[in-house]
Amino acid sequence: MRIAVIGAGVIGTTSAYELARDGHEVTVFERRAAAAEESSFANAGVMAPGYVTPWAAPGMPAKVARHLFSRHAPVKLGLPLSMGEIAWIWRWLRACNLQTYKTNRERMQRLALYSRERLHQITDELKLEYDHSSGYMVLLRSEKDSRLAQSGLQLLRDSGVAFREMSPAEARTVEPALNPDTPFFGAIHLAQDEVANCRQFTLLLKNEGLRLGIQFQFNTLVQGLNPASPNHVQIEGEAVARAFDAVLVCAGLGSAPLLRALGLKIPMVAVHGYSVSAPMREPLNAPRSAIMDERYKVAISRLGQRVRVAGGAELGGSVENKRASSIRTLYKVLHDWFPGAAQFSSGVQEWKGARPMLPDGPPILGASGIPGVWLNLGHGSSGWAMSCGSARAVADLISQRTPALDLQGLGVERLG
Ligand SMILES: Cc1cc2nc3c(=O)[nH]c(=O)nc-3n(C[C@H](O)[C@H](O)[C@H](O)COP(=O)(O)OP(=O)(O)OC[C@H]3O[C@@H](n4cnc5c(N)ncnc54)[C@H](O)[C@@H]3O)c2cc1C
Repeated sequence: MRIAVIGAGVIGTTSAYELARDGHEVTVFERRAAAAEESSFANAGVMAPGYVTPWAAPGMPAKVARHLFSRHAPVKLGLPLSMGEIAWIWRWLRACNLQTYKTNRERMQRLALYSRERLHQITDELKLEYDHSSGYMVLLRSEKDSRLAQSGLQLLRDSGVAFREMSPAEARTVEPALNPDTPFFGAIHLAQDEVANCRQFTLLLKNEGLRLGIQFQFNTLVQGLNPASPNHVQIEGEAVARAFDAVLVCAGLGSAPLLRALGLKIPMVAVHGYSVSAPMREPLNAPRSAIMDERYKVAISRLGQRVRVAGGAELGGSVENKRASSIRTLYKVLHDWFPGAAQFSSGVQEWKGARPMLPDGPPILGASGIPGVWLNLGHGSSGWAMSCGSARAVADLISQRTPALDLQGLGVERLG
């Protein structure tokens, strides 16, 4: 089949690769000059299937409200909110009950576990080399943080995810550079989880895709899909829409406007976050892999010769408008745990990105209900961790094969 993929983030690039591998003739349209220039550019890189979980969780609204105006609040609002954002909050609130949370968490974990398997297969098959390290540790500053983490641990047990609860002394043997002057209560270690550079992987896979004959058309904005013939892609500046057998929408935050024109309303908003990446000053003072400060919801990871610290969740506002206080929180948390790990004199990258977030958590994969139009979108805070599995499953559906992954609850019908 001749297939158009819209978007060359990690989701579009992995999808294009899988489709080309299945023998399809694939063209990728990307408005930016390169792959992984938007949400997939400088994320935390964490792939921890046990911690791939909806943000719509019981107790979450109260937690957000309590911390909203504190100095290092993990969640912030960029006022004024749009009508779409207010409607999204309403849907999110309705999904913050235990049953919905458990159902969606299971769906996301199922996808993330499958995705990790597929990522490893691709990496081994293609002998890809990208910045990567094994192990993920959640740091609990106080007894209260530890108590709050217990219900999550029960869910990890229930879903068979391997983890170890550790004392600070044990945690320091796994991450010996943890600041001895920062006391903490305990840690949860997931040895099978990992951290890896999403952008680097995406760029490598794009090159493999080129070898398979994928045409990447950069600096090419898809203006719309025609409701009368939705598998025709209208490129900005072109008089005639280009016809394909199928169109796969992987345009991250750009997906909702494209689909709205076809009558499909996707309740997606941008939840912004930040990262700071800096050259490692002294490897012995840096994390060996990735840690998550559970109180501030900030991740610190080693990515090759760099240290990356990422976090923050900001609803509303824009990607251009960086909030100084959110960036300060990242520096504070890095300093708390790994002072001296990074050098800030040059080569520091401060980034603000946007998570393409649906209110209940899981992404939408598969047929759109509109003939010829397929979806792989809305991966929120865990798009890297779910990318390779989403891509393989959607490619199977397009090729009319039964995916190895059970897709129950991951289709567009969930939106009602
Ligand atoms: C601070 C932060 C930390 C994160 N940490 C993690 C993490 O640790 N682990 C994890 O798994 N995930 C993490 N994420 C989430 C992850 O980065 C995203 O879920 C993922 O990158 C989404 O990928 P995507 O391909 O859907 O979107 P994108 O990467 O945004 O790709 C969409 C592409 O579509 C293009 N596009 C849009 N509209 C059009 C159009 N009309 N025509 C042509 N092109 C178009 C865009 O230019 C873009 O390149 C984090 C995100 C942030 C912001």
